[in-house]
Amino acid sequence: MHRSELTIDLAAVRHNVRTLLRALEGSELWAVVKADAYGHGASDIAGAALGAGATVLCVATVPEALALRREFAMARILVLGPAGNLEVGLARDARLELVVSPEDIPGGVRVHLKLDTGMGRWGLSELPEPPIDVVGLMSHLATADTDAAYAEWQIERFRSATLPYSHLTRHVANSAAALRYPSARFDAARCGVALYGLSPFGTDPAEDGLEPVLSWTSHLAQTRLLRAGESTGYGRRFVAERETWIGIVPVGYADGFRRDLTGTTVRVAGEPRRVVGTVSMDAFAVELDRDLPVGTPVVLLGRGMLAEEHARVAGTINYELVCGINSSSQRARRMVVDG
Ligand SMILES: *Cc1c(COP(=O)(O)O)cnc(C)c1O
Repeated sequence: MHRSELTIDLAAVRHNVRTLLRALEGSELWAVVKADAYGHGASDIAGAALGAGATVLCVATVPEALALRREFAMARILVLGPAGNLEVGLARDARLELVVSPEDIPGGVRVHLKLDTGMGRWGLSELPEPPIDVVGLMSHLATADTDAAYAEWQIERFRSATLPYSHLTRHVANSAAALRYPSARFDAARCGVALYGLSPFGTDPAEDGLEPVLSWTSHLAQTRLLRAGESTGYGRRFVAERETWIGIVPVGYADGFRRDLTGTTVRVAGEPRRVVGTVSMDAFAVELDRDLPVGTPVVLLGRGMLAEEHARVAGTINYELVCGINSSSQRARRMVVDG
């Protein structure tokens, strides 16, 4: 038996693509599949997203793009992060598109110029006359999920700076902006987190018509009865006050079930149960109300268990949680389903 199973639902990807396309009212949807599609598996997600109407694949690095190029010979692939000198030749040969600064535009590569309208990270603060080979103008929002006034101000800066060049493809929206800011739509939106059915706002994704793509399941590998005063796990962080059944789940922080998830809820035999004690590298404990058979299913994520809720307990964001899941075949079995 595998220690845990990751299931990727491609029908949910297509549902989320349709939700985003409806919100975008005619602007293109570009699928952001960097970091192995936020831990979901870049090639499966890219195929489903393109099949459902996304028009460009976006990644962070040239190696990520080259891996996708082997599978998607014809797709447009945009590298969002900076490319090193040696990588530019590879990008040219593989017909990738790059985000560059205007001082060093490489010949023979389709490029996008990034305007820094207030993210304070990559990009230029002034836009020069875009030279030939520039196909797109872009910016990135710092607060589309939190501060509407600042986001609108960034969008307005972008609009006025790029107004003379509206023949180029202008793109600024991420998932949060695609869902909430009609003014941010321009020609295309670069959406990541929402494709995976995760909320950019940290709320229930169903509120925005999104369906989680990933589910993560395991089982009880052992149960035991703790007497009053007995404890489970490192540091004795959970001490039973009275006789308490606990179950041991063979998943830990090496699998991406983070150490700060103590106190979150998973579903054991369909019922919500609390994670107790210290999460260790390869196992964690849940509090039960009775003895249950070894092999009883435990749902960690998906099927009603929200990444947003785990993220709240861990003091992080759903993005970081899913990117951290270890999908290596030595740790988990990965399955792709369709509906
Ligand atoms: C990651 C990224 C996105 C996608 O953001 P989401 O919030 O996941 O939709 C869009 N644009 C750029 C430049 C990014 O780096």
